[in-house]
Amino acid sequence: LIEKVKAVEHLPAVTTDGRKVELQLNAGLSSGFEHSKRAGATGIGLYRTEIPFMESRSFPSEQEQSIWYYNVLSSFERQSVTMRTLDIGGDKSLPYFPIKEDNPFLGWRGIRISIDHPELFLLQVRAMIRANVGCGNLEIMLPMIASVAEVDEAVRLINQAYFELCQELNENILKPKIGIMIEVPSAIFLMKELASKVDFFSVGSNDLTQYLLAVDRNNARVAHLYDAYHPSVIRALNEIAKQSQASLVPLSLCGELAGDAAGAVLLVAMGFDKLSMNPHNVGRIKWIIRHLSIAQAKNMLGHVLTLDNAKEIKNYLNEQLESIG
Ligand code: PEP
Ligand code: MG
Repeated sequence: LIEKVKAVEHLPAVTTDGRKVELQLNAGLSSGFEHSKRAGATGIGLYRTEIPFMESRSFPSEQEQSIWYYNVLSSFERQSVTMRTLDIGGDKSLPYFPIKEDNPFLGWRGIRISIDHPELFLLQVRAMIRANVGCGNLEIMLPMIASVAEVDEAVRLINQAYFELCQELNENILKPKIGIMIEVPSAIFLMKELASKVDFFSVGSNDLTQYLLAVDRNNARVAHLYDAYHPSVIRALNEIAKQSQASLVPLSLCGELAGDAAGAVLLVAMGFDKLSMNPHNVGRIKWIIRHLSIAQAKNMLGHVLTLDNAKEIKNYLNEQLESIG
């Protein structure tokens, strides 16, 4: 298999009948970029900014952050780099910003913290926009969006940071695209309204699974209930794809499901434009996409949508994938 995967490294991820899918990387530190690029990905679909924050001893300054972000943006010339604003809370906390709560995954997390601490958010987006001067490939992504008002407030703050920097630097700098994660179920029912406010959607299937099924993604006792192939998750993803196509907003998925062969096939069939995954999955997913037609993938999706449990869905997809190779 390694041989087969190596042979497609420099080729695009296109189905046998010509549908192109962009494969991007999930990343958090800049080590290993060279290796990932050789795997044949085209840019970063999810840069988790909380990772460098977690490695810092205190809140990083604008200048410090700007250097991190510049290092990432400049390593991917002419390929988009989607930087997610700080997504702490839940299972991720900073040693210098502890959060104690009974229900952290339903608590102060992601965009909620950014909105309550605009000074931290402004500093971060200023650092990103500053780092993008001379690079031009930055896209900003907002985590944990559950309502339209959160997008309005975050976009207002990003615009403020942008206009301040235009004045301070005395030049017309590039305004980055702004997108949101679809990972809280309430966002699915607001996609039409959200579509008019953002440039792209990216599904966080890890959290979407956890919140749709009410199963903690890190609790071993209920781990057998946590399954992205649960029919409700698959149907929700299909609905999200339909909605984003109806509103002409590009759609990506950056959870673990994108790096899983059976998941990637379903997502391609649904019409996802981009899949973002851990570097070691890129080669295999590309190989599968290149050996499959949209007609075949849609056929599989059609059957999967009739099944009512994850076990049957996975068995069926595995059988189908074995017949492809
Ligand atoms: C997700 O929720 O699927 C996701 C990509 O983000 P994270 O795993 O960092 O929450
Ligand atoms: Mg998430």
